[in-house]
Amino acid sequence: MTQQRRDFIKKTGLIMTASAFSPNVLLSATQPKKEKLGVALVGLGYYSRDLLAPALQLTEFCELTGIVTGSPEKIPVWQKKYNIKDQNIYNYDNFDNIANNQDIDVIYIVLPPSLHAKFAIKAAQTGKHVWCEKPMAKTVAECEAMIKAAQDNKVKLAIGYRCQHDPNIQTYINLAKNKKFGKVKMITSAAGYKDSNTNHWKQNKALGGGATLDMGVYAIQGARLGTGEEPISVIAKASTTRPDIYHEVEETMQFMLTFPSGALASCQTSFGIRMNYLHINYEKGWLKMQPHSAYNGNKGKISDGSLINYSLNNQQAKQMDDDALAIMQNKELLVPGEEGLRDIRVVEAIFKSSANNCSVII
Ligand code: NAD
Repeated sequence: MTQQRRDFIKKTGLIMTASAFSPNVLLSATQPKKEKLGVALVGLGYYSRDLLAPALQLTEFCELTGIVTGSPEKIPVWQKKYNIKDQNIYNYDNFDNIANNQDIDVIYIVLPPSLHAKFAIKAAQTGKHVWCEKPMAKTVAECEAMIKAAQDNKVKLAIGYRCQHDPNIQTYINLAKNKKFGKVKMITSAAGYKDSNTNHWKQNKALGGGATLDMGVYAIQGARLGTGEEPISVIAKASTTRPDIYHEVEETMQFMLTFPSGALASCQTSFGIRMNYLHINYEKGWLKMQPHSAYNGNKGKISDGSLINYSLNNQQAKQMDDDALAIMQNKELLVPGEEGLRDIRVVEAIFKSSANNCSVII
């Protein structure tokens, strides 16, 4: 092979490989390979401030390089604490300019659920990878639009289901796969806490509030991942003990899911009850976890005497490192948009069932 031909193959090979990726990755092909992905947090409320930003300081493959906020008073505090450059600070109006910012590789949407679809789609259109908090969005249609935007712009879309990155949760995900204790017969799955707010987005229907979207998704995850199946029907009942606060959205939702194998899951979620557990009854044993979906210390027991008690330094750091590595190595995400969509499909059926007081096919 002549040197000329070798050079031609090398060049065209590079172009073909590069064009298979996002503009962001394409650009990075001409630049030194990054050891850490730059992450911009969108929305600087409780979860960004208290959990994600501190966790980003512990990650190996990511760093907090940007912020997007509608509250200018937060900027000096965040800049001082995290050493964020002036040019990496955005608001909701100039958000699109992130497209030209080489310090930012990932845009992480940490806004109320009603804003997830709008900003995740805008983020994908900048050519940056997108991470989005749970619940993925308010409706199935919004989730599908987010997935399409990521596909159209050739970027990855991950949902912030931190628990799936926790080895303690992986225990029952694996048992559903390897069937060590046979088929799953019945699950009880509960996720709730006492929310004392009266006028937060969690009490507001238009902003995507309500216990089911916020905490119910953890109960759904326990049932879906515990069986390894997708539910085929649901019967749900909403209730409130504080109608002065919970008149737009439900305070509590109880729902029963039926799975194709015949397994049943009895699930509860609430903004009025502190509960956090998962019980799985298999043909030949059982598994109990409490807490099941906490930030740390998720633990449990299995009927063969083994304990579920893996130590994990920081769940959110693990989640973000797993997702960053998947992006850097162009591998499948552990929790892609399609997984967020599966839960919202169930949530929509729950709302339909409770509103019409009937069983709903999913
Ligand atoms: P928060 O209310 O503390 O923060 C929300 C942020 O969005 C605020 O900075 C607020 O200023 C901003 N915002 C922009 N437009 C807004 C509007 N129209 N109305 C209200 N706020 C607006 O909420 P949070 O607890 O940080 O939750 C944010 C997201 O993170 C939600 O999707 C939530 O479900 C998710 N979350 C996930 C976990 C988890 O464990 N994965 C934990 C907590 C929160």
